[in-house]
Amino acid sequence: MSEFRPVRGMRDLLPKEAQMLRSVEEKARTVAELYGYKEIVTPVVESYDLLSAKAGEEVKSRMFLFKDLGGRDVALRPEFTASVARLVATTLRNEPKPLRLFCVGSVYRYDEPQRGRYREFWQSNYELMGSNRPEADAEILVLTNCLLQQTGLTKYAFKVGHIGVLKGLLSQEKVDGKVQNAVMQLMDKKQYNDAIALLEESGTPQQCISIIRRLVELKGANTLEIVDSIENLVDGYEQSVEAARNLGEILALVSRSGCKIDITVEAGFARGLEYYTGMIFETYAPDLDIALGGGGRYNRLIQLFGGEPAPAVGVAHGIDRIMLGLQMQKTQEESNERKAVTVVPIKDELVSEAFRIAQSLRQAGISAELEVMGRKIVKALEVADKKNAAFVVIVGEKELKENSTIVRDLAKREQQIVSIEKIGEYLKNHS
Ligand code: AMP
Repeated sequence: MSEFRPVRGMRDLLPKEAQMLRSVEEKARTVAELYGYKEIVTPVVESYDLLSAKAGEEVKSRMFLFKDLGGRDVALRPEFTASVARLVATTLRNEPKPLRLFCVGSVYRYDEPQRGRYREFWQSNYELMGSNRPEADAEILVLTNCLLQQTGLTKYAFKVGHIGVLKGLLSQEKVDGKVQNAVMQLMDKKQYNDAIALLEESGTPQQCISIIRRLVELKGANTLEIVDSIENLVDGYEQSVEAARNLGEILALVSRSGCKIDITVEAGFARGLEYYTGMIFETYAPDLDIALGGGGRYNRLIQLFGGEPAPAVGVAHGIDRIMLGLQMQKTQEESNERKAVTVVPIKDELVSEAFRIAQSLRQAGISAELEVMGRKIVKALEVADKKNAAFVVIVGEKELKENSTIVRDLAKREQQIVSIEKIGEYLKNHS
């Protein structure tokens, strides 16, 4: 029989990686609390109708889709936003606005596996629903910066744009909605020439096309100046001018917050998903050249799910990619630190005493492993040392008579007789 392996695109996370994943997840939770986002847990399986309602063709074609035993068309969630929008449109519809909601967990997309691209990956997701004001957009940006900072990542940058600039131009020129979406998707993939060709084909006036050509070139880290240039460039296109001003307000707030964020404004930046209506952004690690997270404003989504119209802005962070960034930047403290305690009975007759002592240590909040392989003491010490244990509590007959054990410090290679009731205290003082 051939060896079993994980299904293509799926991975096992071994202890070190699992620990890193949970640690980033925990930091995401701390940031949620810090900014007032309440955690919700939504199902991994949702109806295909819900998940595909707002998804573009590309996301739809990459869903893990199946029929459940009741014959329903269901899929594994490819992201969290649809589930959150469903809740806000139904169960939470009467909650006072704004709603700040946080979720974290695995999502599934039938992407082509490669480094940083998996079919099962983890996201932390924050949604701020009910506000259309620039402070809400700015909050999502500084929150994302706060999370990346908290994880220990040192090198990351933001790319920010506003979908309203391009949409304003195309709508005023009455470019067909489908063509607009196709153009956005091409621009998202940086296929600018194809996007321009498509616009020419659809009869978009040359003056507008020439503005788009110049927008694509317009980018830089002097954010407020770039925004001014965008505003000048789109003069006469009312919605685009408004979009540029809105972006300016958001960026001014971010800058006023005192957060030192490395931001580049890209006037021609588009995100593939059709539901964005305002500010859009991505954050990436320059060394990795992949997005660590992305988001933006989507004001029509809740309505699409049958709720009262509610403006919203949100972000999803790719936890696996943050982990890759951390591994690359080697900022993660080496977990070589000796921590655990192993309890070893000198002979079989003392196992129950050792079992009891190990349990009392755990009750005192000390991580303790019992020697369960029946190893002799010399071998047990060797194994504990290899596994980086900090101490071995040796349960011997002679010491037990005095209600004591031998506690060996593996790093210092010293040992001392300690009374059983004081082991916890001794370990806490010596580690
Ligand atoms: P999106 O929902 O497409 O905006 O994705 C949000 C974030 O999830 C991205 O910025 C990535 O960090 C991460 N991500 C997206 N697709 C994958 C994937 N196939 N594997 C790992 N992470 C991903």
